[in-house]
This record gives sequence, C-alpha cells and structure tokens, in this order.
Amino acid sequence: MTTNTLEQKRYFSFELLNWYTRNKRDLPWRRHRNPFYIWISEIMLQQTRVDTVIPYFNRFIARFPTIEALAEAPEEDVLKLWEGLGYYSRARNLQAAAKQVVELHGGQVPDDTQAVAALKGVGPYTTGAIMSIAFNRPEPAVDGNVMRVLSRYFLIEEDIMKGSTRSHMESLVRELIPEGRASDFNQALMELGALVCTPKSPHCLTCPVMEHCSGRLAGREETLPVKTKAKPPRLEPRSVALIEGSGDNTGRLLVRQRPAKGLLARMWELPHELAGPEGYNGPVPDEPAMDHLAAHLLAEGVHARPVRYVREAEHTFSHIHWNLRVFQCEEVAAPAGKAGEQPLAAEQRASYSTTAAKPGALVALADQAEQASSTLPAGYRWISEADMSTMAFPKVFLDLITEYYAKQKENGC
Ligand code: SF4
Repeated sequence: MTTNTLEQKRYFSFELLNWYTRNKRDLPWRRHRNPFYIWISEIMLQQTRVDTVIPYFNRFIARFPTIEALAEAPEEDVLKLWEGLGYYSRARNLQAAAKQVVELHGGQVPDDTQAVAALKGVGPYTTGAIMSIAFNRPEPAVDGNVMRVLSRYFLIEEDIMKGSTRSHMESLVRELIPEGRASDFNQALMELGALVCTPKSPHCLTCPVMEHCSGRLAGREETLPVKTKAKPPRLEPRSVALIEGSGDNTGRLLVRQRPAKGLLARMWELPHELAGPEGYNGPVPDEPAMDHLAAHLLAEGVHARPVRYVREAEHTFSHIHWNLRVFQCEEVAAPAGKAGEQPLAAEQRASYSTTAAKPGALVALADQAEQASSTLPAGYRWISEADMSTMAFPKVFLDLITEYYAKQKENGC
C-alpha cells in the first residue's frame, strides 16, 4: 500500500461528498430517514441490482408500512412479495427480526449499534448501513462495492475475501467519515462504487477522486481488488414435471410445497427430481430421463406420465446451479392407499430407488389409467392460474408456470 497521507484521505472525503451532493440518485429509500425502510432496502439490495429492487421495495412498504405490519403478516404474504428477488432467507429473517423489534423495542428500530447487530439476518454491513444512514452514527458499512473503491483508491492489495481485510477497511472508513456526515458519506461511497468505480472498466476520467487515486496512478484500476475466486456452484441436472390435470382438474397444474426447513423453505414449485445418470445428457426427447422421472413421481405418490420434452431452464443459488429439463406430464390414475405421504425435497434424498427406476414403470402407470385419481400426497395441490396470486414460487418455476398458462390461452384452452 502507498502511504495514506492525511491529505489523500481528506481529499477523498471532501471530493466524494461534493460529488454525491450533485450526483446522488433519487431512490425511494432516500426520500426519508425511516430506519425501517432503510433496513428493508439494504436487505433487498444484497446481491441484487438497484433497478430490480425499486419495484419490490415500493410494493413491500405499501403492504407493510410499519414494523408491526410485517411482524404480524402471514409468512406466505411476505414470501409472495419477495417472489423473484431470490435469497428468500433474507425475507424470512427480516420478518423474524421485525418480530424481535416489536417484542424488544416497542416496534421502533433502536438507535443502538449492539441492539441492531443482534437482529436476525443483520450482519456487520447492514448494521453499519442502518446506523449511519438512518441515525447518522459514524459506523462503517463495508461491502464488496466499498472494498473495491477503497482497494483501488488506497492501492490496498490484501485479499478482500479475508476477514482481516474487512476489519482494515472498516477502520479506514471510520477515519474517513467527516464529523456529522456519516449518512451521506457511506451512501456516497456506495454510490461511487455503483456508478463510477464499477467492477469492470471503472470510469476514472469522470471520477471525483481520480487525482489522488493510487490505484489509477499505478495503472492498477482494472486489477484491483485482489479477490480469491469463490468455489463455483455445484451443477445439478434435474428433471421437472409439468403435470396437467384431467377430469375435475383440467386446466390446472400440480405443484408442491417445499419442506419447512432448508433451501427455498415453504415455497411452491413444480415437482422435480435429480436426473438419473443414464441419459440426462442424451438427445431430447430423452426416454431414460422420462422413465426416471415417472418412476420417481410414482415413488413419491404422484401418478403422472411424462409425454413431451418442453425446454431447458436454470436456476442458480450461491452454492448450487440447477440445470432443469422440463417435461410435460399427463395425470394418470392412482392405485388405492399410496397417497398422503409427506414428500422430501428432492435434493434432500441421498439415493434413489433402483427398483422404481426400471423402464417398465411407464407401462405400469399406463395400466392404472382407468382407475379413479383422488388423493394427493401431502404438500401437493392442483392450482389454477388465479391461485398463483397468493402462492410464492422461486422465479424459475414462476416463469415456467406463467409461460404454460400463456400458451394455454394462445391455444384457446
Ligand atoms: S480513479 Fe478510477 S480506480 Fe480510482 S476510485 Fe476513481 S474510478 Fe476507482
């Protein structure tokens, strides 16, 4: 690192604040200093772009204008308003923390760093953001954007994935915050990272602090920050069943609710299973994959037969990448006494039954077709398009189901 002279630091804070005053974006959460709204915006903005967050934020505060309203809402309503934003544990934690605030702080976000840091889902960055933006307390709010700007300006070559680097940056921000200006300063730092000192091709020529930027002067603006690569998400090929109802369920699709704990807890989805090794990568239509899916649906107590390959889709979590192959399925009749068992989330299964996966499973299912279909396994239900307005789906399934109903309408069904 170069010598961080007092002058370089003062220059940075002064020019940054001047620039922010002239260039700050008019964002909905900046129109007031309501700590609850600032908190919501900071949670939504984690891993998510500002443009994406704005409509979600506006809908969320319209439905939950107070902490009490959020604390008392059914979880399904909270998830529905978060639908498509991803990282749903953020929404669950936000609601759990709202309950904490009601119980412990009379429904008001406390002006107390320790108390805010103790709220569920509120880490060091969010604590700093709430305390500085809402209460103007001189607390650092250091995330990846801020670390990028500081690494470049001060030519810091420490790995930003290390906790020690974060601590160093937090100390640096404490030094940089001008007295009484914590709210604007932290927002200015975030704004510079978002608009000017961008991850790729930073706009140094229009940057308000370019003159004393050590990274730029050393020609390092494109190579900083130093960051060890995160492990890529694990690839999981999955087969998805788009099961159309028949008889009383004509025009409906079969969906299931995920277990109460774990990935995408309690959200709704199309049934899907880890694809069998024998054929996922084969050509489509993929007979082995269809047999495998049919067998697993059967093992779960769902009586359906894949009839047509529809398309591929994908969904990425921080640690898993789902590569989905979607099959349209027809409902077939259930034998008596097999329904009503609680399903496990497909990815919670350690192994798959080899007896259920034999190719003859389709024939067996077809033979059941004359029997009456009645009860579904626990957690499953038939839905119409209208039902979707109250049920929360991960984005990939929301898109698949929306597309299905749009095609049905096009075809006059
Ligand atoms: S001059 Fe370039 S590298 Fe330095 S802070 Fe500004 S945008 Fe970032």
